[in-house]
Amino acid sequence: MSTDRTLLLAGNWKMNLDHLEAISTVQKLAWALRDAKVDLTAVDVVVLPPFTDIRSVQTLIQGDSLDMAYGGQDLSAHDEGAYTGEVSGRFLSRLGCSYVIIGHSERREHHGETDAQVRSKVEAALRHELTPILCVGEPLEVREAGEHVAHTLDQLAAALDDLPSADLGGLVVAYEPVWAIGTGKTATAADAAEMCTALREKLRELLGADTAQSVRLLYGGSVKADNVAEITEHPEVDGALIGGASLDPDGFAALCRAA
Ligand code: PGA
Repeated sequence: MSTDRTLLLAGNWKMNLDHLEAISTVQKLAWALRDAKVDLTAVDVVVLPPFTDIRSVQTLIQGDSLDMAYGGQDLSAHDEGAYTGEVSGRFLSRLGCSYVIIGHSERREHHGETDAQVRSKVEAALRHELTPILCVGEPLEVREAGEHVAHTLDQLAAALDDLPSADLGGLVVAYEPVWAIGTGKTATAADAAEMCTALREKLRELLGADTAQSVRLLYGGSVKADNVAEITEHPEVDGALIGGASLDPDGFAALCRAA
């Protein structure tokens, strides 16, 4: 990673851990980070629990002044109204969320989220001062066809289409090759570096050099304590989005330490 940007390690819990389990996980994570002597001034540690856990996580993190941020795994493109089952960015903001995942491949695949919807959600996040963790990345057949870079850059361009560069300085983009998510198959550090270099170049074209330089680029897909250091060593890779390995507090703290 580059010294201009703070390393970001974000744990995507997906649909795991109820609100009681969330409390004990965050408590144990705080202890484990302290025991592992993770320098929390040099790394941003974020947890992304299910919606029903967020109030409990807020109480714990704010009440105990824990050096951790939290956020949602999705949000509505709308702010309020007749949208049964959806959650507004305003509500997440009111609960002290700083981040929100947008366009995760599981949302794109199981909920048919389109690039246009992803873009509307990025806009909604910005309206409510939430930092989008925008996920992009190719399925296996696209990689095998050698079109992974073009595919991923197209997703990026569609998600940011016509959004003002001035609002996007804090953006986080996570490159998550679909074939590496939850499969144990990690892209190589060279694959992550190749894509993050291409994403940075595209961001320069879309947003201008200064804004592009401040965007944090993460890699996600089977990241663990034993491969995170190699992945984040490249100057264009500013951290990781971690699924399975973020559920065990000791393991996640060891990963934060290793990064
Ligand atoms: P994984 O998930 O670390 O379990 O592969 C990553 C993600 O989907 O964000």
